[in-house]
Amino acid sequence: MRLAGFLEELERFYGRQEVSWPTEPYEFLVWWHCGYPASDATCAKGWAALTKEIGIEPDTLLRASVAKLRHALKAGGMVPELRAERLKEIALRVQNEYGGDLRAGLVGPLAKVRAALKKFPNIADPGADRILLFGEIAPVAAVPSNNPHVLYRILRGPERENYGATYRDVQQMIEAEIAESFDARTRAYLLLKVHGQSLCKRTKPKCGECPVQRECAYFARQS
Ligand code: SF4
Repeated sequence: MRLAGFLEELERFYGRQEVSWPTEPYEFLVWWHCGYPASDATCAKGWAALTKEIGIEPDTLLRASVAKLRHALKAGGMVPELRAERLKEIALRVQNEYGGDLRAGLVGPLAKVRAALKKFPNIADPGADRILLFGEIAPVAAVPSNNPHVLYRILRGPERENYGATYRDVQQMIEAEIAESFDARTRAYLLLKVHGQSLCKRTKPKCGECPVQRECAYFARQS
């Protein structure tokens, strides 16, 4: 079965997936620092508290005290003070280098935009790819950062020990088989993400409940 077929199976099993985080690049950067350890659930909690108690605009974050930010961010989990300082760093950069409008400044060659995104705290290649794709800047082959192993296992077998090598291999699999469009690549991202969170976990995948078990290279090697 090719990748398109696996995605069909996953969509039949999990249903159509919707984005559950802010996709505008600046808002994503703020959301990403609203929770720690960062997850949809922790970031959503911190985001809800931050937007209710303070707001997210760059000048609003710069005016707020670290103590006030820390209080709001506590809803999202650990190290709220560090995350408060990171938010100020993000807001300051967006204010000073982008005139308060990050999205308007993310133009030009892809390599330059990617490098600009990676200057923000806690943004490496997977985060930059996620912003590029979901922010509709470029339809890159983004892979969920917590589970590049999912597609690797399905198509090839046990993932490689090197995270970066697995990530790049999976990107190439997506580039080879999934149309270079925002719709097709966001759909692939979201289905791989939900499968990694639900059944194809990094340790102890629940293969017995998996809808693609019969075609999975990893499962075939374990059997
Ligand atoms: S069979 Fe197991 S390893 Fe393969 S995709 Fe399903 S959960 Fe993951």
